[in-house]
Amino acid sequence: MTNRIGKVYLVGAGPGDAGLLTIRGWQCLQEAHLVLYDGLVNPRILNWSRGEAVRSCRAGRSAGGDRAISTHPGWISQSEINSRMIEAARNGQIVVRLKGGDPFIFGRGGEEAAALAEAGIPFEVVPGITAATAAAVYSGLSLTHRECASAVAFITGHEDPDKTEQTLNYQSLANFPGTLVFYMGLHRLETIARALIDAGKPAETPAMVVSQATTSRQQSVEATLADIAARAKQANLLAPSLAMIGNAIEWRTPAAWFEERPLRNLRIAIPRPLEQGEITALECEQLGGSPLLMPTISISSIDDWTLVDGIIDRIAEFDWIIFTSVNGVRCFMQHLWKRGLDGRKLASCRLAVIGASTAAELEKWHLRADFVPSQFRGEVLGEELTQQFPSGKAIWFRANRGREVIPERLQKAGWSIETAVVYRNEDVTSWPTDFWEKLSRKELDWIALSSPSISRNWKKLLDAYLRESGRNASEFINAARFVSISPVTTQAAIEAGLSISAEASPFTWEGIFRAIAHAEGRPWINASTSLAMPTIGSFSPGEES
Ligand code: SAH
Repeated sequence: MTNRIGKVYLVGAGPGDAGLLTIRGWQCLQEAHLVLYDGLVNPRILNWSRGEAVRSCRAGRSAGGDRAISTHPGWISQSEINSRMIEAARNGQIVVRLKGGDPFIFGRGGEEAAALAEAGIPFEVVPGITAATAAAVYSGLSLTHRECASAVAFITGHEDPDKTEQTLNYQSLANFPGTLVFYMGLHRLETIARALIDAGKPAETPAMVVSQATTSRQQSVEATLADIAARAKQANLLAPSLAMIGNAIEWRTPAAWFEERPLRNLRIAIPRPLEQGEITALECEQLGGSPLLMPTISISSIDDWTLVDGIIDRIAEFDWIIFTSVNGVRCFMQHLWKRGLDGRKLASCRLAVIGASTAAELEKWHLRADFVPSQFRGEVLGEELTQQFPSGKAIWFRANRGREVIPERLQKAGWSIETAVVYRNEDVTSWPTDFWEKLSRKELDWIALSSPSISRNWKKLLDAYLRESGRNASEFINAARFVSISPVTTQAAIEAGLSISAEASPFTWEGIFRAIAHAEGRPWINASTSLAMPTIGSFSPGEES
């Protein structure tokens, strides 16, 4: 990639709900080496890229989260953004400049594109869902309702209506035949409303402020134009918010599907490894919750491949290759490719996997599993494989830790088996101070514990932080409530000194979310999700988390 010039994608991240990123935006993130994101972007979207994530900021902005665990990257100012993009692209990198909403709506995207064009850097712009349309839809409002609004205007509220040289003409805004949407103007709402009324807009025109639209914390306030500023102040609405003014607001339809989701306004820590946590976080968001991925286990590739290379060189000796996790397949296949080989090297072996997700990962490498047991368990794999094939020689590509049940079963049945570690599965030994501060400020509502080892490790992480910081356990231990996935996990948590406020039934992630809703006294509505959620009971050692 050295001599080739890279490329910049200016991508709209959408208004807050991570699911509202476009597929094109997601594709760009897959390619990116560097992601420069702004403060309005939902940090969860950063997990969808393997590129380095760097936050840009304007002076005076407060800290937000970064990736799953905030690592406080060196923030860079708006003025450095252009040079950073240009420099990275000149070094052959693919850069995603990720901006809230649509990059060209009040977002300086146009200026950034001009700078890129001037520097001769290839770039593309990917539109995003802008805050106005998303906030309207998620509050049941059609901005262009046929009965009363033949137009919609997006207006900056930044401009002071009292300043002498205005570009906004309040007279024409007052006569505008449709809905007015003010971005960025919450602190000026009173002045804006007064200017509109002074220009002839009826004081009783319906108005609405929507804050943190499309997120778990969306809130809206409705009043007349005369009262809206006072009402918004009373309700203590937080940024970002926008104001909508016009008769279309009267025609709002209930947005119960959004506003009554069972986990609304709840912030939930999810301790699964990033790879598996992603799908759980999506499920949580669909139920209205705000997930925070806090893995207690980290997955990484091994450094020394000598042993595995030796096995690859004599792979034809083996009848079977066994994989028991997505990570195992991924790390092994990536290494095979790095060595300049591909699936043909494995042609003489048959492939056994523990379950459907491992099989699906093999398919990504264009390999089909020859054997999948009837249940996702090491015991069952061992039993069923040896029943079908009374003898054989196998190699198991595995993690550095986990149960030994597969080699035991195979050897007992007279098979010969070798094993080789292809990835590391390790306990996370510390979490950033940021997380603990968030917890002590009560900015988390629930912490989910999804296995006995996660419960134990959670307590170890807390103890490590208390030792290091000299702070008191009481600041943290009751700052959020714990929900457990099963009685076994509850038991482990209690033994570790944690108290459990809710327990899942069934013993799945959906069960966890249901238990939280129940404890909060909220009716459960089934999330009509098509996301497949594996159940805890069906995990094999490799797939478990
Ligand atoms: N390019 C962005 C807008 C950037 S200007 C877009 O297309 O949406 C920033 C302003 O957008 C904020 O001050 C606020 O008025 C509005 N905004 C952005 N996200 C919002 C959200 N989730 N809810 C309400 N308003 C939002």
